[in-house]
Amino acid sequence: MSGCRGPIPAEENIPAARAGGLGDLPIVVIGAGPVGLAAAAHLAGRGLDFLVLEAGAGAGASVARWGHVRLFSPWRFDIDGAARRLLEAEGWTAPDPDRLPTGAELISGYLAPLAAHPAIAPRLRFGAHVAAISRLGHDRVRTSGRENAPFLIRLASGEEIAARAVIDASGTWTTPNVLGANGLPAHGEAAAAPYIDHALPDILGADRRTYAGRHTLVVGAGHSAATTLLALAALAEDAPGTSITWAIRAASASRTYGGGDADALPARGALGTRLREHVRSGRIRLLTGFHTHTVSRDAGRVTVTSRDLTGAERSVTADRIVAATGYRPDHAIASELRLDLDPVLGSTRALAPLIDPDQHSCGTVPPHGVDELAHPEPDYYAVGVKSYGRAPTFLLATGYEQARSVVAALAGDWDAARDVRLDLPETGVCSSGLAEAQETRVGLATGITGGLLAAPLPSVATASGGSCCG
Ligand SMILES: Cc1cc2nc3c(=O)[nH]c(=O)nc-3n(C[C@H](O)[C@H](O)[C@H](O)COP(=O)(O)OP(=O)(O)OC[C@H]3O[C@@H](n4cnc5c(N)ncnc54)[C@H](O)[C@@H]3O)c2cc1C
Repeated sequence: MSGCRGPIPAEENIPAARAGGLGDLPIVVIGAGPVGLAAAAHLAGRGLDFLVLEAGAGAGASVARWGHVRLFSPWRFDIDGAARRLLEAEGWTAPDPDRLPTGAELISGYLAPLAAHPAIAPRLRFGAHVAAISRLGHDRVRTSGRENAPFLIRLASGEEIAARAVIDASGTWTTPNVLGANGLPAHGEAAAAPYIDHALPDILGADRRTYAGRHTLVVGAGHSAATTLLALAALAEDAPGTSITWAIRAASASRTYGGGDADALPARGALGTRLREHVRSGRIRLLTGFHTHTVSRDAGRVTVTSRDLTGAERSVTADRIVAATGYRPDHAIASELRLDLDPVLGSTRALAPLIDPDQHSCGTVPPHGVDELAHPEPDYYAVGVKSYGRAPTFLLATGYEQARSVVAALAGDWDAARDVRLDLPETGVCSSGLAEAQETRVGLATGITGGLLAAPLPSVATASGGSCCG
């Protein structure tokens, strides 16, 4: 790595910042998921000093949580260009480009070797949970000298690190949406947490014993809910006493079912058809118009009460709840920075129209980079799935292009930063013939986009709209 000396030890970092040497400070990347590590690879490739802070114990800590799920994007779309160059120079061989990895394979075949690469490993700290970001000597209100003040990154341990720029690739996995129908936690939701799993538990694998022979309530109307319901239905076939209730806010599940045989995307249609059959047969009990209001625990079980807009109440008692209600970004860590957030999605305002789930599915999101990701706070960028806020249209390939563009800008190479490209074919990213031919262990037809796992199907563009996603 040219022009890049070793990382400044933490104890010297803040004094160096106080001495005014902004240029001597590293660029801090938050998160060693696919996009954070891609940013690290681009930084290494450009010889810029950097430090990756990862809360988890290893690379891809959030991906590991859904390691049993197979991606819908084959390997060719899962590897960042700069990362590939670094890895190949060390003798790594890329996996079969047409294969669909599981989350666990994405880590073992790509993210873990990348994190262990000699250009990255010395600049990567695990167990480093970023609690807050500010500017040294500046709260959000203080303007004078702000752009020359280093960033101050405080870890949960209390340690503080100064940086010349921050690339926040911390994802959204750790901040799932709540069960409450209003977007606020349902009453009692926090206390009932031991009974609640968030999307995509490994029902047919590691988590089987938790669900076998028990009654599970699944809340949500998107793909992760559908996937979880199908896995539970499969479990019910050989685990007597397994029962399933599915609660949605909408008046009908027709949008989750999709178009069945007539659906533009066969995999989506097949998923919906199977779900509808289970509801028709009574294996899955469907509760529509369910507005989760209260969750209460009683004698080892949990009761969820809906209060609809008229005030009418209904309750269901279950052993477990799967909250498949999507994810939201945690902007709280950057609350002392000047962010320009779209009021609906929580992405930057410039990015919002490009990723709007009412207009776009993942394959139709146009390429974008530093200009769309910039905030009023110079040199702070959220990239990866966090950059999309609540829009469920994110794809790794778009995140890798974001990372490339932002790093080019931080290197002062504005021509490269603004030359944003995305080389995605019309098909084969969100769904592929290959994907549709397979099914994951959890029963998800892999042609259904995981990036839209939490999205209600109506937000997915139709094929007539040029979409590739289910
Ligand atoms: C089940 C599923 C299937 C998917 N399938 C596909 C697919 O086939 N193709 C595709 O293109 N996309 C897919 N996606 C969407 C997307 O690509 C992934 O969510 C991807 O993991 C996003 O990468 P990321 O690096 O932005 O964030 P993440 O992978 O979420 O990584 C964020 C990292 O930041 C760390 N972190 C979080 N907070 C902090 C903190 N405060 N301090 C320090 N570290 C922190 C986390 O531990 C984590 O390691 C899928 C998503 C899911 C959920």
